[in-house]
Amino acid sequence: MKNGKIIIFIIITAQLLYSYEREKAEISGKPLKWEKLPIKYHINKFCYKPIDAEKCKEAIVRSFNTWESPKCTSLRFERSEDTEEAKGSFNSLDIKANKNIIVWYYKDWPYEPNGVALTTITYDDKTGEIYDADIELNGVYYRFDVVETLPSTYTDIQNTMTHEIGHMIGLDHNYDPHSVMYPTAKAGEIKKRILSQDDIEGVCDIYREENGCSCSILSY
Ligand SMILES: [Zn+2]
Repeated sequence: MKNGKIIIFIIITAQLLYSYEREKAEISGKPLKWEKLPIKYHINKFCYKPIDAEKCKEAIVRSFNTWESPKCTSLRFERSEDTEEAKGSFNSLDIKANKNIIVWYYKDWPYEPNGVALTTITYDDKTGEIYDADIELNGVYYRFDVVETLPSTYTDIQNTMTHEIGHMIGLDHNYDPHSVMYPTAKAGEIKKRILSQDDIEGVCDIYREENGCSCSILSY
């Protein structure tokens, strides 16, 4: 009996320690969120050059679909025309002109060499409203593919993108190894293609589907 109690205690502690975290504004601490849905995105027209562009784009679209799919969320994305932009940027003079882009680098990766990808979010610190998010991927140090057979030495595009889109919508890292928002991935990993229950709770907390009317029931 004593052992049983100890095991239960450990499980509860683990659940309390590892749950989804929202990204927060640096100064105000407001949690970040897109106020206008759908969130439009543009994929660089070459997608990831070493592989077939359509296959690459389909993998990215699947990642976006994954985050929209829980029934409890109102989150929606819209794929807009492909872009020729080759790096992320933000124009503060014309906020509406900003595009949320997905782009690979093939040389001069400007960030941490070990980083597989980076999502840069621009937001209003006072309100936490997100204005722009660009996902940049490290094609200099990593070889990507759409992993179809395991084991694989390639970095899976859908696995990587599902994680980065989590950041795009306002989720921070989660140290539960089952979470899509776990910070690291091994080559060939594909488990982040699928949301954990905790990831679902995260997306539904930020973008909750309001179920129809706020109905009252009258009985006669
Ligand atoms: Zn991350």
